[in-house]
Amino acid sequence: MNFRLSLIVSAAMLAAAPQAIAQDRTAFEQQAREIYRNVVEIRSARGHEKVPEVVDYIVGELKAAGFAGEDIQITDYDATGEATQGLIVWYRAEGEPSEAPIVLLAHMDVVDALAEDWVRDPYKLTEEEGYFFGRGTADNKYGVTSLVATFIRLKEEGFVPSRDLVMVLSGDEETGMVSTRAQANYVHETIKPAFILNADAGGLSLGPDGEPLIYGVQGAEKTYATFELTVTNPGGHSSAPRKDNAIYELADALKNIQAYKFPVRSSELTRASLEAGGRQRLDKLGNAMRAFAADPTDENAIEILRDDPSTVGTIGTTCIATMLRGGHAENALPQSATATVNCRIFPGVGIEATEQTLKDVVANEDVKFKLISDLVESPESGLREDVLGALNAALEERGVDVPVVPHMSSGGTDGMHYRNLGYDTYGVGGSAAKPNDTYAHGLNERLPVDSFYDGLDHFHVMLKELAGPDE
Ligand SMILES: [Zn+2]
Repeated sequence: MNFRLSLIVSAAMLAAAPQAIAQDRTAFEQQAREIYRNVVEIRSARGHEKVPEVVDYIVGELKAAGFAGEDIQITDYDATGEATQGLIVWYRAEGEPSEAPIVLLAHMDVVDALAEDWVRDPYKLTEEEGYFFGRGTADNKYGVTSLVATFIRLKEEGFVPSRDLVMVLSGDEETGMVSTRAQANYVHETIKPAFILNADAGGLSLGPDGEPLIYGVQGAEKTYATFELTVTNPGGHSSAPRKDNAIYELADALKNIQAYKFPVRSSELTRASLEAGGRQRLDKLGNAMRAFAADPTDENAIEILRDDPSTVGTIGTTCIATMLRGGHAENALPQSATATVNCRIFPGVGIEATEQTLKDVVANEDVKFKLISDLVESPESGLREDVLGALNAALEERGVDVPVVPHMSSGGTDGMHYRNLGYDTYGVGGSAAKPNDTYAHGLNERLPVDSFYDGLDHFHVMLKELAGPDE
């Protein structure tokens, strides 16, 4: 379950980083690549119960680097009928830290991939054509690798943080998020961090020629909610139709939802994001994005943004029919008809208010509503100065001078559970990509090799900025 804006990297990405062969890589880069290879090659998808293998491998690497057993916590979870694990690792400050911990997130599971559908074995890390291919190369084993490799690198450098750094890796982010929820509650009760950094979202956005355009921080996620709408009826024989009919009533309800437009919404964050996105394109859509950012009541801009699947979700709540079932025999009147309606709710609107709106729109009390997803409201996180400063330092280290722009994604990363508990949570991954170039969740998922190496310093710089010795 993962619908973040995908940010992709290009082989041509940073002019300063010529294609290097493996032998030219530093010992640290080679070590990070080895961690990446090992975690990609474990099939940690639902149905295979191999997240514990990932945990076992990572724990081995961390212990070899000097992390103490008492600072590593492995927890078993039953992810709706299947065993998975979560891993929490403390990189402790010395003495009494004056600031609250920072929690760092990534997930160890992947969406499954079938070898017969791929050009290359999805569970083998293949380097070819300037890309690393393999399931999870983008989502999210790069995130796991960059956090684990950074912890090891800092430890080997003798770095002692001024506050606790706590790496929290989940084991079923792509499916039930059982481990995520439990970890978020644990973090809330025990760790009480100042804020959360998520390696599973955010990143450098590249233009068509591979030039960096903006750095996107995921600062908000829409609230994900799924409703079932059901109409029941006594039914009867189809040769003697009664006036009321479960399928017709449900169809009317759905047609009302189809015709309804949720009120236009915006926030400082979404306007800034539309403004920055609009500057990257000179077409009608780009103009509308900028016009809306300047004036969110601009009817002409609203109409254009509503008509485009890539922007309709950025200006308000959306609810859309996704599944349908009903009736039981071709010659019987339906006794029941059910539709699934999936909503992506704008931050601050709320699941309850959205359900009420849908009920008003349907205007038929025979249509029964049932919320079938978890109740996880996800408020927006205002961008902190310290996080912004650390991001800018990391970008400067890469020789990249671009604006840092917060964005809202449509909902579904581990971060929403932490926002739900009141923590500011930022998707600040280190990769760089052109839009739609990594095929996360899809066939032949990949990450540009240059992006892999260029992004390795990202958390290293950020954590030294945010948890370096007091000056
Ligand atoms: Zn992910």
